[in-house]
Amino acid sequence: MSTQFDYVEENFRKISFRVNEAKEKYGRSGDIVEIMAVTKTVAPEIVNHAVSSCGIKLLGENRVQEYLSKKDSYLPASVHFIGQLQSNKVKYIIDSVDMIHSVDSIKLAKEIDRHAQRIGKIQDVLVEVNIAGEESKGGVSPGELTDVLAQAAELPNIKVQGLMTIPPAVNSEKFLYEMQKLYIDISDKKIDNINMSFLSMGMSGDYETAVKYGSNILRIGSALFGARIYK
Ligand SMILES: *Cc1c(COP(=O)(O)O)cnc(C)c1O
Repeated sequence: MSTQFDYVEENFRKISFRVNEAKEKYGRSGDIVEIMAVTKTVAPEIVNHAVSSCGIKLLGENRVQEYLSKKDSYLPASVHFIGQLQSNKVKYIIDSVDMIHSVDSIKLAKEIDRHAQRIGKIQDVLVEVNIAGEESKGGVSPGELTDVLAQAAELPNIKVQGLMTIPPAVNSEKFLYEMQKLYIDISDKKIDNINMSFLSMGMSGDYETAVKYGSNILRIGSALFGARIYK
């Protein structure tokens, strides 16, 4: 009998196959492109199955409350926080996440720095870019980015490791392309104390296109675990 577990494995095989195809097609065969399992709404047993049977090594968490209720049940894996993060919630996750993808203001960066200092950690972060200038989405505008990075570079307990974006579902290719240009631009500026090691973009609907435009962290939820009732 086919189970929910088989379903996840089957999905993972398809996703890996397509990612490898895209890497070959776009001349990126030698690059590491990580597949992150985005766990929102998914029961920890199923997340653990993705870790133990599919070999997924990276989990993406959106909601502080949900993450806290699930994290003690998880098998060992790297955890990145990818959802909108309120400054007053930083303290709940700072000790257990390897990277925060959703730094969308200097205010939040300072709060992460403060808590990281308190627990003696240097917190890796990505700066989220609102590449299409959408009102409904968080993120720094492309025009503000250099200034935000320069300020973040001064904070001793955070380390910027790259950029993240959530492009609009419609016309996403245009924005993935613009994001790659911006990423290359910023990399070329070689800002002190800022690394451009990760470009986090590509979700269930556009991950192959994201590979085309240089992404090296694909954040995949529904294509792996199935459709969610709420977003
Ligand atoms: C939900 C979510 C994803 C995954 O979305 P899918 O379309 O289900 O793959 C990726 N990134 C962020 C920030 C998300 O909130």
